[in-house]
Amino acid sequence: MMETCPACKAPFKGRQICHRCKSDLRPLIAVTERAAACLAAARAAFEQNDYQAACGLACQSLALKRSQEAESLYRYAGLLAGRRRILACL
Ligand SMILES: [Zn+2]
Repeated sequence: MMETCPACKAPFKGRQICHRCKSDLRPLIAVTERAAACLAAARAAFEQNDYQAACGLACQSLALKRSQEAESLYRYAGLLAGRRRILACL
């Protein structure tokens, strides 16, 4: 989840509108949620030993939002899937 308002850096309190500068944070929240959903799907695919799918989903998650977990999953799944160009998304 994002921690601060990207416009004014006020702490994010889970509201759709920034409490300080009144920025509409909904598009950002949507992106963050999509990234989390892709990451969850990647994790599920990984557990099913579907490394190709896990790699692709982790890649999508990374494209939306950078996170340590998505990055590790992407590298590891990419390796297991036998991809040579595993750094394509990074
Ligand atoms: Zn703000």
